[in-house]
Amino acid sequence: TYVVNDKCIKCKFTDCVEVCPVDCFYEGENMLVIHPDECIDCGVCEPECPADAIKPDTDQGVERWLELARQYADVW
Ligand code: SF4
Repeated sequence: TYVVNDKCIKCKFTDCVEVCPVDCFYEGENMLVIHPDECIDCGVCEPECPADAIKPDTDQGVERWLELARQYADVW
């Protein structure tokens, strides 16, 4: 799955949401998150993010953002 990090906070762009083929972006408190089970790992959103806030879960340091994504995605 891909993971949204803190660079997304208060970002007003939604380019990622528009390109995602499976609509797996969800709204968190002050950022967007990617539903970890719905993301098909296509990678399309990563270069579209103007804030450079989307990274694959293979990157270091994404664990806490992945955890947050689970929390927010389950709420919705
Ligand atoms: Fe959507 Fe693809 Fe990005 Fe996953 S990697 S959130 S499926 S655009």
